[in-house]
Amino acid sequence: MPGAPSSAVAKFIDLLPSWLPSLRTRFVLLVAGLFLALSVVMIMVASYLDLRDEEQRAVSDARAIGATVSRLAVPHLTNHHYLILEQELESIAASGVVELAQVLDPARAVTIDSDPATSYFDDLEIHPLVKQALDTGIEQTRQSRDRVEIALPVRDMDQNSVLGAALVSVKRSSADGILMTIWGRNIVITLVLLVFCIPVTFHFAANFVRPIKALTLTAHTVSAGNFDAPFPVERTDEIGVLARAYRDMVSTIRHNMVRIHELAYVDPITRLPNRESFRQHFTASMFDEHGEANRTAVLFIDLDRFKRVNDSYGHDNGDALLKDVATRLRRLLNLRLREGGKGEGDGPLHGPLAAPGAAPSAMVARLGGDEFAIAMPADKTLAGIHALAEQLVQCIEQPLEINSLTMAVGASIGVSVFPDDGNDYTAILKNADIAMYAAKRTGGNRACFFSEVEGDSWSPDRIRLEADLKKALLRDEITIAFQPKVDCTSMGVVGAEVLARWQHPERGLLSPGSFIEVAEESDLITKLGSRVLELACEQGRFWLNHGLCLPLAVNVSIRQIEKPGFTTRVLDVLEQTGFPAELLQLEVTETVAMADPERILEATKPLLEAGITFAIDDFGTGYSSLAHLQRLPFNSFKIDRSFISGLAIDRHSRSIVQTIIAMAKSLNYEVVAEGVETEDQFRFLRAHGCTTAQGFLFARPMPADQFEDWSKAFEKRPSLASGDARDQTQASPSAAA
Ligand code: C2E
Ligand code: CA
Ligand code: CA
Repeated sequence: MPGAPSSAVAKFIDLLPSWLPSLRTRFVLLVAGLFLALSVVMIMVASYLDLRDEEQRAVSDARAIGATVSRLAVPHLTNHHYLILEQELESIAASGVVELAQVLDPARAVTIDSDPATSYFDDLEIHPLVKQALDTGIEQTRQSRDRVEIALPVRDMDQNSVLGAALVSVKRSSADGILMTIWGRNIVITLVLLVFCIPVTFHFAANFVRPIKALTLTAHTVSAGNFDAPFPVERTDEIGVLARAYRDMVSTIRHNMVRIHELAYVDPITRLPNRESFRQHFTASMFDEHGEANRTAVLFIDLDRFKRVNDSYGHDNGDALLKDVATRLRRLLNLRLREGGKGEGDGPLHGPLAAPGAAPSAMVARLGGDEFAIAMPADKTLAGIHALAEQLVQCIEQPLEINSLTMAVGASIGVSVFPDDGNDYTAILKNADIAMYAAKRTGGNRACFFSEVEGDSWSPDRIRLEADLKKALLRDEITIAFQPKVDCTSMGVVGAEVLARWQHPERGLLSPGSFIEVAEESDLITKLGSRVLELACEQGRFWLNHGLCLPLAVNVSIRQIEKPGFTTRVLDVLEQTGFPAELLQLEVTETVAMADPERILEATKPLLEAGITFAIDDFGTGYSSLAHLQRLPFNSFKIDRSFISGLAIDRHSRSIVQTIIAMAKSLNYEVVAEGVETEDQFRFLRAHGCTTAQGFLFARPMPADQFEDWSKAFEKRPSLASGDARDQTQASPSAAA
């Protein structure tokens, strides 16, 4: 059972916190309790000591009186003056301290006492203590709560013989009285001290608890989301240590939160908001506080030719390009916002997410890959958005210098407007995407509004297109068209460019514009290119067998060249079809050729040795360096169509074309002008020494059988110099192709 009380105490201590929730109250009660306990202990000690002192005093008083009575009794016992002795004892007792004084003469058996009611004649009973003193010859003491009795032998003057015995009974002061005095006095002192001590303790406790309260307040502020709340860390005590530990913990949490937020909402390459962030921003600012739709335009930006840059210049440079594009977009948008009366940073271009019902603001985000998106408040006329889209195209078009490489991409932009083009985020983004593909399909580097896109003219579903293309390759739906190349001086047909076509079962004959990019991005380009080469060589061989010796130029993509086995595949096709290598030319676009000259050199070496020639396609768009050009194995430049179409209107184009022709001459290259549509263009080119021309002026790309008819008709016609080339072309069957 000894465990019972201690377990009860433990239980009580356990329960205490639930009764006393406040630390301060508990502290005050603890101090008061300790103080009271201490007071009780002190009172008890004081009581014990006082009672002991009183007892000792009572005994020594009794002893002194006993000795006096004993000395007093000696002459009276010797002379038997009992009466005098009785009177003297009575007067001693009259003082009140002595309760009883008694002397015994054993020789005569006379007892003399201080009680006036008795006399020594009476036969008084002898006190047992007196008997003992006589028997033993030494002093006998007996104490009780209210008296001390002492009996001692009475000896004669010489202390030799015992004459009798004396007894005194002395009254003690009351123990209760003593205790009452002690307790009374101490309780008053304790109460006075308590009255003083409780407020002081309370004050100390409040001081002690204050930093804890401050810490608690900070913790609440932090948990409400404000990580900048100050901690009371300047203290040197344990609370300071706790506060510092707490502050460190919060800063770690804050750091992690920032990291988590970044991972969730920020694109790591460009530091722009990511797709999710864009979605949340758009969704939050769709409606104003009255539930009215905020007119917002989404500009979906997809870079043209980024895949090529990435593949050719490597991912690091690709990333650098994306970063640069992001900076340009951000700068342009900030500029627009400032022009529109909003200060920089007013719109959270890459800042925190908009709160629901927030005023619409602009945001630029990277959706992934080479896709960016801008959300922008739009007015009724969309004039501002039109202008912005235009500026974006121009801004992205500017070539970029990274690690002494010059890169250029374009932008295809699709615009859809909330709520005109859709009533939720998904619809708006999808429609902007559709508009973007329409822009891409029509040549890229331009913007297209969803409202202007024709409904069924094309499929936005690239995945389906890819799957269809895969099937097309298996089902032999890929065919080729030939576009003649005409010698500018002799006006003879000196070759043809082979261009891929897709005989789609539902959509009819498709041009490469609608499938080459999907093919490049899905890697189907290798199969497609290989198939085109095969078809071209078969046709070339067929013509050779029938007396038509026509050099053919086939387009190859960087993806094909990069694939191991490209060289072997080309040589295999030549061997299988029996088409002579000297009649085959491969066209590689300038940007690709310049991106990785080493790779091109390596891949083309065996082909060059076999007799195949190479042409740089779309020349003038890629910022080639002359040094690189000279090292590469090209025999031919094809001046990009855009410069030829600009000849009539643009002085800049004229000087570029002149420069390209002059450069080609000095390097002893053939120059092919692409996209020659008018006689003026042709005359200009011929006058400046262009060797070969290709374009609708002579013929559109056409199937093999039509090409035969066309070339026969073209051979027979009179000289172009007379100015009738156009009539001739239009009369030819190809004009309808
Ligand atoms: P490209 O190599 O620059 O081919 C010339 C394109 O210009 C052809 O378009 C042709 O129809 C067009 N063209 C020719 N003369 C004129 C003209 O006078 N005016 C105008 N406006 N256009 C003219 P097409 O056939 O649609 O081919 C587009 C592009 O697709 C080609 O551009 C080429 O880069 C690519 N491509 C075509 N076939 C293949 C192929 O088999 N493999 C690869 N990798 N790419 C191909
Ligand atoms: Ca070409
Ligand atoms: Ca070209």
